Amino acid sequence: MKIVRILEQTVPLASKIRNAVIDFSQMTASIVAVVTDIRRDGRPVVGFGFNSNGRYGQGGILRERIIPRVMAAEPRALLDEAGTNLDPFRVWQVAMSNEKPGGHGERSVAVGTLDMAIWDAVAKIEERPLAHVLAQRFGFGTPEASVEVYAAGGYYHPDKGLDGLREELRSYLDLGYDAVKMKVGGASIAEDLSRIEAGLSVVGDGSRLAIDANARFDPETAIEFARAIEPYDLKWFEEPVDPLDYLGHARVAAACSTPIATGENLFSAVDARNLARHGGLDPERDTIQVDPVLSYGLVEYLQVLEHMKEFGWSRRRFVPHGGHQFALHCAAGLRMGGNESYPQVFAPFGGFADDDSIEHGRVRLPDAPGIGIELKGDLHALYLKLLDTV
Ligand code: MG
Repeated sequence: MKIVRILEQTVPLASKIRNAVIDFSQMTASIVAVVTDIRRDGRPVVGFGFNSNGRYGQGGILRERIIPRVMAAEPRALLDEAGTNLDPFRVWQVAMSNEKPGGHGERSVAVGTLDMAIWDAVAKIEERPLAHVLAQRFGFGTPEASVEVYAAGGYYHPDKGLDGLREELRSYLDLGYDAVKMKVGGASIAEDLSRIEAGLSVVGDGSRLAIDANARFDPETAIEFARAIEPYDLKWFEEPVDPLDYLGHARVAAACSTPIATGENLFSAVDARNLARHGGLDPERDTIQVDPVLSYGLVEYLQVLEHMKEFGWSRRRFVPHGGHQFALHCAAGLRMGGNESYPQVFAPFGGFADDDSIEHGRVRLPDAPGIGIELKGDLHALYLKLLDTV
């Protein structure tokens, strides 16, 4: 078998929302389609990938380096031992050839986007949902039938006051979510505290409300904020400081009784290991949110899990960022602690299958082969249009 072609396109992901650091008015994402010569039901098997959210499209790196390397490789060099399916680890090695270590930039996002499409193709060729493939290959036999998810939203929005925030969070509970997350750090502490109280008035209990500062604070301000929110007993305080300021994390963690969640802007296994070594986080209390797409794909993510295990981090403490179908399969197949979900934002990439339903804060895994992008009409339509261009 072989890869016939790899298509990519940058598509808009714009919206009027903002967090404490960026607005999303110019946001984009890359989509990638890996077309193989294997046929199922009379059609070629095509693997689909996209670059999660929050980082811009990676067309340049994909077009100039990553895709040409994979297409130039001897087809057999990309296959498993049997020669009947792609080997994501071999594809990854080829994609990363002639790349220096460190200085990850957003190269990791480009590689992660391709990696998602390769895993989707692998599972489709095996005619199984990706979670089953991962569960079998990486030691647990069967995946979990459903995954705990929380609804991420509560962004700053120009047309939305506290009433709008309450209404949004209530809509998530109505959809079946047990826990929600909202943004902080984009207003004064006093204003953020009234936003948090508005959130609490909807969810009732602090253990059902997480807050996300998007790395907006310096350690001193983060500690001041952490002390101000202590009485609320919140689910977690996310990205209190710069993702690479490990000792800053350690200072906040030591001063803060609220659990900390972080990692969505760590893009390599070495970065994650440094967080485990120096970040002062508690493997019994805190949560790691490395996103398998933003951080060089699942091939690297397996290394993240291994590195952090050495420091006492169980897979159950991992709840990936991104709210996408790929991370959902990883969470179910690798038995992680849960997954983010974006019921209202980042369409058409956020959320899971069109017909999914959230029950008691959990979403069931789809039965379709691969990731199940075909079950998400608006998203699938982007790929059909891309495939139409050739
Ligand atoms: Mg976040």
